[in-house]
Amino acid sequence: MTSNRTHVIVGASLAGAKAAETLRDEGFDGRIVLIGSEAERPYERPPLSKDYLRGEAGRDKLYVHAAEFYADRDIELRLGCKAVGLDPGVPELALDDGTRQGYDHLLLATGAEPRRLRIPGADLEGVLYLRSVEDSDALRTRLDSGGSVVVVGAGWIGAEVAASARQRGLEVTVIDPLSVPLERVLGAEVGAVYRDIHTGHGVRMLMGTGVEAFEGDGRVERVRASDGQALDCDFVVVGVGVEPRTRLAAEAGIAVADGLVVDACLKTSAEGVFAAGDVASAHHPLYGEHVRVEHWANALNQGAAAARNMLGSKAPYERLPYFFSDQYDVGMEYSGLARGWDRVVFRGDPTTREFIAFWMVADRVVAGMNVNVWDVTDAIQRLIRARAPVEDRRLADPDVPLAELAGAAA
Ligand SMILES: Cc1cc2nc3c(=O)[nH]c(=O)nc-3n(C[C@H](O)[C@H](O)[C@H](O)COP(=O)(O)OP(=O)(O)OC[C@H]3O[C@@H](n4cnc5c(N)ncnc54)[C@H](O)[C@@H]3O)c2cc1C
Repeated sequence: MTSNRTHVIVGASLAGAKAAETLRDEGFDGRIVLIGSEAERPYERPPLSKDYLRGEAGRDKLYVHAAEFYADRDIELRLGCKAVGLDPGVPELALDDGTRQGYDHLLLATGAEPRRLRIPGADLEGVLYLRSVEDSDALRTRLDSGGSVVVVGAGWIGAEVAASARQRGLEVTVIDPLSVPLERVLGAEVGAVYRDIHTGHGVRMLMGTGVEAFEGDGRVERVRASDGQALDCDFVVVGVGVEPRTRLAAEAGIAVADGLVVDACLKTSAEGVFAAGDVASAHHPLYGEHVRVEHWANALNQGAAAARNMLGSKAPYERLPYFFSDQYDVGMEYSGLARGWDRVVFRGDPTTREFIAFWMVADRVVAGMNVNVWDVTDAIQRLIRARAPVEDRRLADPDVPLAELAGAAA
């Protein structure tokens, strides 16, 4: 070891693990301390609502690295250990085992946690949330027992859990105050495609309906909907979004606004402290504003980018937001950021479940989603980045290669 510097990462999940890996790959030979409050070594969460939840994939598939990776790379992995205090002035962290850990650079990759519903009956047994592998194991045990489930929230987690539960043969009701599933991100038109996919698989979609209470004697037996209906069930899964884990940083006086505010190089307002992944609200050069996303690819790439910047590279993080979802036999990838749009242009017929949707502002593509169509992400991302005018007619025409449109727009 030629460096006597110590870089510390709080949050031993995807962003944190990738940051540790990258520090070593980039030649840093000082101390790396990776601190995580979970008992498991870093793992990936997407399978927790998909094949792992259904019992089709084992735990081995989840891990970011093999067990020996950390020792082999001389990365000090401190699991089951929580950072409970941060003093950037010293600088050091206080850990829940009573020890203190100094640092030269610190990465906060503390992620996000499920938003809790605060309604009557919220604490009844059988009201479940999904974030960790333990949550997924507990949910899988419920799926093994069969019966009926009410899924509260028709966002990505709710929609994927509903699909997995149906695939395991349970009776599934999804309830959400919005008019179609995934409406916040996809809008009403494309959300309706997903509604039809779920109803086609026998899910009861109670859209435009809120939840007033969970009822039962010790354990949840029914959900009281805002329209007065009582929905009998064996258990409930709540998926109503997540909140970034900002407390440690906020108490240390670091700027927070829907996540830890970081510049394009992922630096927080505190000297030597960076943030990446679900917790980071990063200034995005393409959008000229702060963007916080809760996507696997963002954790993967931002963790690595933050590590390079901790070593002094000063490279802005410019990747486009990208995420994927699998429900039944429908796989999709979404690129870009559509906070508002004029219309959606379809290439292919959405009822065939094989299409690309483009979200348009005037004559520009701001986001694109390919559904059961593959190897088009690069072209879609080039179209978005180019910000050049594209004709709807050519976007919709499957005979016009996307690469050609992207080339023309670039
Ligand atoms: C069920 C599920 C399915 C998903 N499916 C998809 C998908 O299909 N596609 C997609 O793009 N994205 C998906 N995601 C989102 C994706 O998994 C997240 O974006 C990603 O996990 C974020 O990684 P992260 O490292 O930023 O944070 P997290 O994964 O949230 O990890 C943060 C870690 O920090 C630890 N921590 C927090 N505070 C402290 C502290 N004070 N001290 C020590 N440790 C601390 C936490 O315990 C946690 O282990 C899914 C998420 C879930 C939950």
